[in-house]
Amino acid sequence: MDILALRPVPAAAVLMAITRRCPLRCRHCSTGSLPASEEHPGEIFRRFAGTFAPGDGPRLVMLTGGEPLLRPRLARSLAEAAARGGARTMILSGMFFAPRVPPAAGEAVRIPPAIEEAIDAADHFSASLDAFHEEEVPRESVFAVMRALLARGKDLSFHVTGTGPGDPYLRDVTSAVRREFGDRVPMLVGRVRPVGRARTTASSFPAAAAGNASRAAAAGTVTAPGTGPPAGTGTTTTTGAVTGTAGSALPCAMAAWPAVGFDGTITACCNQDVVDHRPVPGHLRLGHAGTDDWGTVRERCLGSGALRALRTYGPLWLAGAPPERGYCETCRTLDVPPPAPTPAAAFVERQVLGLQLAGGGRGFARRYGCPPYDDLVSLGHPEREHDL
Ligand code: SF4
Repeated sequence: MDILALRPVPAAAVLMAITRRCPLRCRHCSTGSLPASEEHPGEIFRRFAGTFAPGDGPRLVMLTGGEPLLRPRLARSLAEAAARGGARTMILSGMFFAPRVPPAAGEAVRIPPAIEEAIDAADHFSASLDAFHEEEVPRESVFAVMRALLARGKDLSFHVTGTGPGDPYLRDVTSAVRREFGDRVPMLVGRVRPVGRARTTASSFPAAAAGNASRAAAAGTVTAPGTGPPAGTGTTTTTGAVTGTAGSALPCAMAAWPAVGFDGTITACCNQDVVDHRPVPGHLRLGHAGTDDWGTVRERCLGSGALRALRTYGPLWLAGAPPERGYCETCRTLDVPPPAPTPAAAFVERQVLGLQLAGGGRGFARRYGCPPYDDLVSLGHPEREHDL
């Protein structure tokens, strides 16, 4: 919940996709990862993390992939560099290292030492859990690893994905996590998006979220925790179709955290199509980890008129486009000047950010996750205990 509360804050964090490789072959993989997918020298990422400094660095570094723990020594060194720069680190893993055969009751689970050291170096560890990952790694094995980490005092969460609010898998798995971990481990529940491998396999997914799929297709997708298309592009009907008026204002909170892609290119958001395609549209390119430092990237993120306008009004309003045209699709082809930097524009910008901050982590999960499950991001949080 604390991490998601930071999500709309420009340059509060940086996402680093340190490899596209992954040994798993989950059918819904948004990055289309394979064991031999692209991977670039770790020095690119180390150099960039070396430019973080206390008081002049991100507050959070999120290591993703592909599977970031395929490069455990790199992940560890980035977590250590982040700590020297005053940042905390989170790792998101698909749990390929969990034993294929779940350990028997009372039997200790073995985590490969290099991976254990990387997890130890990070402040927060999150495991992906969904029907597609469960085809590759048994749920009980994932639970065994998470139990072992929790017993050692690790701060944990799950990233759970389903096909939509009516997906029976989501009911089952969220109940299982709550039972298993006594409501101490939060979950961010999202919806599978038709990008990457899911673009070709989505037709085989359960029909529960046919409407969501069409909405997601319209809005594009992102791969990182707490991200996804806003759920309110116009009005969503019971069939999932989106209606609305041309140029509806719908701020994009995703244009807040710079994302370092697999090759070191730094983009203004982690929308998979933005991360993957070259050239990156000019208004969404912030630099390169091999040549730019954090201070420069941060200034570009904060100062760009286009990004400030996207964060305040969203692409549809800026382009005067109807929602049917697609949210992120409209953004990627945006070719209009941002509004003039007047005092009124600055006031509106502050108000929009203030509204998002007031919604906190739960508000963010409601908007970008799977709404019936948004409250699960607060499991184990002291504020939830206080509310109860
Ligand atoms: S609207 Fe633009 S900035 Fe926001 S997530 Fe989509 S592509 Fe990225």
